[in-house]
Amino acid sequence: MPTSPLRFRQVLSHLPLSAVLLSLAPASRKLALAAEPTFEAFCRRHAWRPPRRLKDHPFVHRMLLRTRACSVCLEPNANFPVRRGAGGAAAGAAVAFRLCRSCARRDKVQQQISAHGLEVDALGVDGKALFARQFHVPLFGHTNGFSSDLRSKLNAKGL
Ligand SMILES: [Zn+2]
Repeated sequence: MPTSPLRFRQVLSHLPLSAVLLSLAPASRKLALAAEPTFEAFCRRHAWRPPRRLKDHPFVHRMLLRTRACSVCLEPNANFPVRRGAGGAAAGAAVAFRLCRSCARRDKVQQQISAHGLEVDALGVDGKALFARQFHVPLFGHTNGFSSDLRSKLNAKGL
């Protein structure tokens, strides 16, 4: 029994956007085309317009969503570009994808980024730092500055 396009769209509207983007749309061209109106609605809600040269591309809103939203959770405020290659933003490395602040700070995400030779910008496009304080300067010069080590180093030296 063939499924009507309307019913299919209703099913899509009940799925999480990330599942539609990351699992359903890549499965086939037909599914990607069926999902495009869902992506378009999301892009419209955030006033994201496709570049003029791509406006006739059949999957333009899917592309837009993938480049503008957080790659992990699809949060629209993805202020932290992740770049390929050493030197990051200072070296003019290309943006591979973007992350929101909370995903960019997660240990698991940080591990994946470095495992793939990528670098997340320490300063977001909104001008805010990813980490307010990465480490503190030790008062007595016994440690490397990371507070987690402080107690063990002090104990080892019997101080
Ligand atoms: Zn996120």
